[in-house]
Amino acid sequence: MTPETMTRPPRWWTHAACANADVSLFFADGRGKLDQACAYCQRCPVAVDCLADARARGEETGVWGGVIFHKVPRR
Ligand code: SF4
Repeated sequence: MTPETMTRPPRWWTHAACANADVSLFFADGRGKLDQACAYCQRCPVAVDCLADARARGEETGVWGGVIFHKVPRR
């Protein structure tokens, strides 16, 4: 997938298992597609870096490092 929220892809990005994947899988509403996205992460050699960077950027949605991020509505 293309990391649209990144201003400049990090060095580890060249090893991403999802580099050519359909980005919509990683931001889908349905669990089935999100599971497909997570399958990329399970075989991704840079999952730890991906997850750490996503947390550092404050990502609120999407699949990063095998974790599904949900935006929690404010009350
Ligand atoms: S951990 Fe998942 S989202 Fe992150 S680069 Fe790898 S395949 Fe892509």
